[in-house]
Amino acid sequence: MITEQEHTVHNFHVDSDNQVRIECPECGLARFLNAEGFRYVRDVFIFSCQCGAEFRGAFDFRNGWMRRVNLGGEYYNPRSDDSDEMRIEVLSMDGLAFRTLGRHSIERGDILNINFRLDNVLSTEIRRQARVLNVTDTAIEVEFHRRPPYDPDLGFYLMP
Ligand SMILES: [Zn+2]
Repeated sequence: MITEQEHTVHNFHVDSDNQVRIECPECGLARFLNAEGFRYVRDVFIFSCQCGAEFRGAFDFRNGWMRRVNLGGEYYNPRSDDSDEMRIEVLSMDGLAFRTLGRHSIERGDILNINFRLDNVLSTEIRRQARVLNVTDTAIEVEFHRRPPYDPDLGFYLMP
């Protein structure tokens, strides 16, 4: 049953342990899920409750200092000696998600050299090594490899 809330998207806050509390907007029944695997997923999910209600929800990872961005950058893949431009869509302290502008030869497990500029006042340049976690068509998810223990540039940029 889709209710009049069909077009409302509820934001469910994910805590620092990746636990998210999904509360039914109709009856208030709550359950807990682990949202770890959804960190870079932008999708809106449809949940159904025991009471029969269906509602739309998205995971809100703000506590994880994740930010949706639109930043240009470049990657170099030493394994395939391949470099190209990219468009970063999601940025966090731990990694990022980007799209390649065309065909690519990136595979899961590759270590990429990545550089991009933040859209802050100083256009701070960020250079990182990153390990590829997931490849879906032109959408790539990476985690930073040997991330610096103190990372003020990204930290200030991502601070909520
Ligand atoms: Zn319910």
